[in-house]
Amino acid sequence: MAEAEGHVAEPGDWFESLPIEAKHGDFLRRIADLLLTDAVFEGTKPLDVTGGSPVLRWCDPEDMASRLAEHRPSGDGRPATQEQLLAFVRFVVDYSVKTGHPHFFNQLFSSLDPYGLAGQWLTDALNPSVYTYEVAPVFTLMEEEILLSMRKLVFGDGHPSANGGDGIFCPGGSMANGCAINVARYKFAPEVKASGLHGLPRLVLFASEDAHYSIYKMAALQGLGEDGVFVVKTDPEGRMDVGHLESQIDSALAKGYAPFMVVATAGTTVLGAFDPLPKIFKVCERYGLWMHVDAAWGGGLLFSKKHRGLLAGIERADSVAWNPHKLLAVPQQCSTLLLRHGGLLSACHSRSASYLFQKDKFYDTSYDVGDKYLQCGRRVDALKFWMMWKAKGTIGLQKHVDKIMDNIKYFLGQVQRRASFKLVLENPAFANVCFWFVPPRLQGSQNSPEYWSEIHKVAPRIKEKMMKKGSLMVNYQPLRDWPNFFRFVLQNSGTNHKDMDFVLNEIEQLGKYM
Ligand SMILES: *Cc1c(COP(=O)(O)O)cnc(C)c1O
Repeated sequence: MAEAEGHVAEPGDWFESLPIEAKHGDFLRRIADLLLTDAVFEGTKPLDVTGGSPVLRWCDPEDMASRLAEHRPSGDGRPATQEQLLAFVRFVVDYSVKTGHPHFFNQLFSSLDPYGLAGQWLTDALNPSVYTYEVAPVFTLMEEEILLSMRKLVFGDGHPSANGGDGIFCPGGSMANGCAINVARYKFAPEVKASGLHGLPRLVLFASEDAHYSIYKMAALQGLGEDGVFVVKTDPEGRMDVGHLESQIDSALAKGYAPFMVVATAGTTVLGAFDPLPKIFKVCERYGLWMHVDAAWGGGLLFSKKHRGLLAGIERADSVAWNPHKLLAVPQQCSTLLLRHGGLLSACHSRSASYLFQKDKFYDTSYDVGDKYLQCGRRVDALKFWMMWKAKGTIGLQKHVDKIMDNIKYFLGQVQRRASFKLVLENPAFANVCFWFVPPRLQGSQNSPEYWSEIHKVAPRIKEKMMKKGSLMVNYQPLRDWPNFFRFVLQNSGTNHKDMDFVLNEIEQLGKYM
């Protein structure tokens, strides 16, 4: 072993020179065992006499800080023992939310797919970074192929926009929306890449009031400002009001602004609504605007023959954001931006850094696709999706989506049957069921002036109880002038009727005396 200058050999140094298997094999195997048992098997089983686990073990932040402090890297600089590391891993597993648990319905992702997990592990074991073909030959081709397969689902198999289009993986749907704004703006005003917004009229885009909040963040980041997003009203079901879209565009034009883009949403985050894409396309065509479809949540429906009609019109989009980590239950994160236009991403984002993207390499450098991305080093998010797609087949992914939609119908029926639940939307289009729980003391008093302000307090209180008990996680929120309501969502096709009955029984139980 080469010794660094001034390094005095210590008795333990022979250990450092051992191969990883001899040195760390035992440790890694113990970690893998612990993860399989505690995080994967027990962590995705409801608590009962045979074992299982709560959804979470609630700890308030101060308490958590002191627990975590016990596992800090040692203050005296000494290394930890293997036993201390294993105790630390156990602590992390114990106090983390089990998002693969059948009673976790809090977010637009859930469940734990074994093939997806295997893909994650394989990715992490190889620790790749995809910018050039030379460091990521398998992953470069894998990414491009899976993006093409997704474009075929969006734009139609054999359609020139699938083969001639382009795509990128993004660190989340928010960033996918941000890249869409950047590319749409570049198409409208290519000079913006070199000169920024200097000298341009005020660029504005349009999105519905239920569009994802990332649109505003990304508009702010890109110098368009939050006010550069013109808000379009929705109808009572949460779909973009196309008449109002037109009048918003007209009013922007009347102010001398430069509209360049409409963001439609296919599956809104809270209500699960689908904006009327064919009508929005007509408006975009008439005004010459880029049509982006944020299908972060709804995109997975493209796998289902039965339900893909909800996305009719998506094939006319200029760009589509689609998160396989949501409806398709691919592990976090797996987000994409798909474009009908080839070459635009590269024109908009590339910087041709000469230390990375040398043009005189010995292989075809068109495979160095990294320069069309905004990031430099980049994690691989394709492998876990490829693995799941291969393992289940397109048929399996279709069944996954169809099962979710069947289950949602069951859940909706159960909510309708119970007097203590009231739906926000009577006929939800997608996998979101939004409802109020009405505790017995408030039942029948809809006409009292305090009714809605009292209802507003119910969901947060029930949420506190379910979290502290660790039995269930379901999200709540207000929306427009609706007081707080629960949003039940499904992405786990393993959810069964018993799990769904549990949700309603548990909420009734926890909210009985509120
Ligand atoms: C979740 C969501 C996003 C954001 O995706 P992240 O991966 O969480 O950044 C964007 N749009 C819609 C409609 C979403 O539901």
